[in-house]
Amino acid sequence: MKTALITGITGQDGTYLAEHLLGLEYKVYGLIRGQNNPKAEAVQRLIPSLELVEGDLLDQSSLIAAVEITQPDEVYNLGAISFIPLSWRQPVLTSEITGLGVTRLLEAIRMVNRDIRFYQASSSEMFGKVREVPQSETTPFHPRSPYGVAKTYGHYTTVNYRESYDMFACSGILFNHESPRRGLEFSTRKTSHAAARIKLGKQSELLMGDLTPKRDWGYAGDYVRAMHLMLQQDEPDDYVIGTGKTHTIQEMCAVAFEHVDLNWQEYVRKDPRFLRPADVNLLIADSAKAREKLGWEPTVDFRSLIRMMVDSDLKQESAVGEPV
Ligand code: NAP
Repeated sequence: MKTALITGITGQDGTYLAEHLLGLEYKVYGLIRGQNNPKAEAVQRLIPSLELVEGDLLDQSSLIAAVEITQPDEVYNLGAISFIPLSWRQPVLTSEITGLGVTRLLEAIRMVNRDIRFYQASSSEMFGKVREVPQSETTPFHPRSPYGVAKTYGHYTTVNYRESYDMFACSGILFNHESPRRGLEFSTRKTSHAAARIKLGKQSELLMGDLTPKRDWGYAGDYVRAMHLMLQQDEPDDYVIGTGKTHTIQEMCAVAFEHVDLNWQEYVRKDPRFLRPADVNLLIADSAKAREKLGWEPTVDFRSLIRMMVDSDLKQESAVGEPV
């Protein structure tokens, strides 16, 4: 039986990855931060066989202790400040957690057991002001937010530990991936949630930023499979993961509202408060390497993904307020 330690266990990908690994007979530990993290109970209810271990990406000794206690074969670093607008408002904290946190975790692994395999959750946001279309493992980075800059640091740190210490460290450059478990602050879930609530008469409008940027959106359940596959190869490497199809934020709104028989133009309003100081305009993945070497393929297309999220929000919002 293999053992995995996942940071970011309370996030979207953490729960999908834990379920995937448990399905493969792994023993799975999730790193939980804070003295009474309110999400601990929810994650434990969702995945009862998951074990939680205390630690924080800001705290070196807690990471060493977590690796010593759990003795993992594989560590997946999904923990981060991952919401780009927050990274503009709290750039130093973002650098500390999303960037330096990678060094702290790699140091903990290096000190405890260099044979542990390591996955770093890198991001298409590292491509930022894109230098080529589509983006592959060889496309130069040009990050456009404190989040993108911190992820770029984490990516190069991962490559550096692989090359300097001969560690099995992989960086997965993942494009946007969503699900019904996506945080409500992210544009896709904000939209699916609003479409459901407007349909149910609980909300009147949806305030959004720029609707023109294009994103390559996939399903989180598909993307965690790729993370695991990367750590099962003979050699550590970096892989781009995405669908290879791109859509505007406006198209995403249209699909969500259409699904509940509403016209998005009647409800979506632009609000300058949601504009970013700098944006990323055209993200589209070239995942040929992952498809060939990992045998990875996405299974959920863009429309099905957005509809899945709206259906889930309709169900949840219909249940809210009903007697239990
Ligand atoms: P998410 O839902 O925002 O989850 C972030 C996780 O990080 C949460 O579990 C959070 O824990 C944890 N965290 C925050 N600060 C921490 C700290 N100081 N120490 C330990 N853990 C901390 O993110 P996600 O969507 O699952 O994404 C997983 C990873 O992939 C992230 O690193 C993200 O940047 C990256 N990524 C995501 C996408 C995407 O489209 N989803 C694309 C590319 C890369 P709390 O609950 O305690 O706050």
